[in-house]
Amino acid sequence: MIKMKNVYKKYSNGVVAANGINIDINRGEFVYVVGPSGAGKSTFIKMMYREEAPTSGQIFIDGTELGSLKNKEIPYLRRQIGVVFQDFKLLPRLNVYENVAFALEVIEETPTEIRKKVTDVLALVGLSQKARMFPNELSGGEQQRVSIARSIVNEPKLVIADEPTGNLDPDTSLGIMNIFEKINNRGATIIMATHNKDIVNSIRHRVLLVEGGMITRDEYEGEYSYEG
Ligand code: ADP
Ligand code: ADP
Repeated sequence: MIKMKNVYKKYSNGVVAANGINIDINRGEFVYVVGPSGAGKSTFIKMMYREEAPTSGQIFIDGTELGSLKNKEIPYLRRQIGVVFQDFKLLPRLNVYENVAFALEVIEETPTEIRKKVTDVLALVGLSQKARMFPNELSGGEQQRVSIARSIVNEPKLVIADEPTGNLDPDTSLGIMNIFEKINNRGATIIMATHNKDIVNSIRHRVLLVEGGMITRDEYEGEYSYEG
């Protein structure tokens, strides 16, 4: 599903954020990306949906080499990838239902399809009762549920999350993790950058440790722990 070959990324300020990354991630895997701040976790993730392009090397998503995509093809790639952020990135003037429906309206789904898909996904994340509320009326955990609903309403095969529980308390974080588990059990591949040690050590999955722009550990059912 995801393959990186000799991926190297140097930002314009000279910082090398990816320094020879080689990785294979199969369809249906759940992968945690851990490591110290500034290690290159976000860069690694952003290159998967072409928010950042590598300076050299190749990235394949489902066999498509991202460097071969024309600019006009990038929105099509992104539609097949759900992205969840630490800070939710909801549209403040739209209610819960509209925030989720928006992702489908931009791709011109029919109103009937939109209604069905949004209703289903709000039920999946446990927000059916809050469809008419606005983001500022919701708790952090609820806002993250909306953000997850929006990211998966297109039924992407790949869901990428950058610190999705970073702003949430432990109980709320567990609720969010249960949703990611459900999405993974339905077949989606999940890539999640996280600093949440308790979660990584209790809900076991593959762990990639990123340090200095390199993958320095790759373990199935791995633990969070790393040196400084
Ligand atoms: P992490 O997610 O592990 O904290 P990042 O991928 O955000 O790491 O950052 C890796 C390194 O690249 C850091 O030194 C960071 O300051 C630098 N960096 C990240 N984004 C940019 C950017 N847009 N321009 C320049 N340097 C950047
Ligand atoms: P830019 O032209 O600056 O790259 P984009 O339109 O790519 O802007 O992205 C705008 C915002 O949407 C950014 O914050 C980016 O991180 C986010 N974003 C990009 N791709 C996706 C995606 N597939 N799903 C959700 N958010 C995305």
